[in-house]
Amino acid sequence: TKMTRKFFVGGNWKMNGDIPSIDGIVAFLNQSGANDAVDIVVAPPAPYLSYVKSQVKNNIKVAAQNCYKVPKGAFTGEISPAMIKDLGLEWVVLGHSERRHVFGESDELIADKTIHALESGISVIFCIGEKLEEREAGHTKDVNFRQLQAILDKKVDFTNIVIAYEPVWAIGTGKTASPEQAQEVHEWIRQFLREKVSSEVADKTRIIYGGSVTADNAAELAKKNDIDGFLVGGASLKPDFVKIINARS
Ligand code: PGA
Repeated sequence: TKMTRKFFVGGNWKMNGDIPSIDGIVAFLNQSGANDAVDIVVAPPAPYLSYVKSQVKNNIKVAAQNCYKVPKGAFTGEISPAMIKDLGLEWVVLGHSERRHVFGESDELIADKTIHALESGISVIFCIGEKLEEREAGHTKDVNFRQLQAILDKKVDFTNIVIAYEPVWAIGTGKTASPEQAQEVHEWIRQFLREKVSSEVADKTRIIYGGSVTADNAAELAKKNDIDGFLVGGASLKPDFVKIINARS
């Protein structure tokens, strides 16, 4: 149930930050009192992964924002889960809507990356979400289920996956899903896991919400039964992120 699923807050920095601004973010992260009831994971741009890892307190985990589907080779510009692991990191974000819709990543590619990351010992924040036109056409459920089905087709093990529901229309727009809108989809996703995988996986898997989460709306969202945390973009670059980390307490 909700209280047995540890609250999870991710900060997705996207393509933002430089050394001075990262030092500022690290300072407010490190000053936030350790909250043992929350998993905290921040995802800096790849060039800063080692630096951030070396600066944050060890209750704060560091994630890559992407990785490829094989360990190494002639894939200019890509990084592998083996490399992420080599840096002492444990997490990667996959399937983010910007990867899907700006860079054209398919459900199948994202599923291949997810399997490979998990098999390499890296945990995955697996992002799904519908676009505005899909929601307006009544396809919210189909789209999210299709994106999830792509990893089920590859017999994924859910132990080290956190699912991030991020409606595309809410990302970076300031238009947050209402707690009711988010809860509805989270409940569908959990039901999907119950039917297609197992009750155990449905009960244990964290389903976090992303899309214009702020210190002002986090607490109301966090009260909902099937919302187990957040993936935060813009607000993860600001000191208010600490309020989001503590939104359930
Ligand atoms: P946002 O981004 O919080 O800036 O809307 C969320 C995300 O893309 O993960």
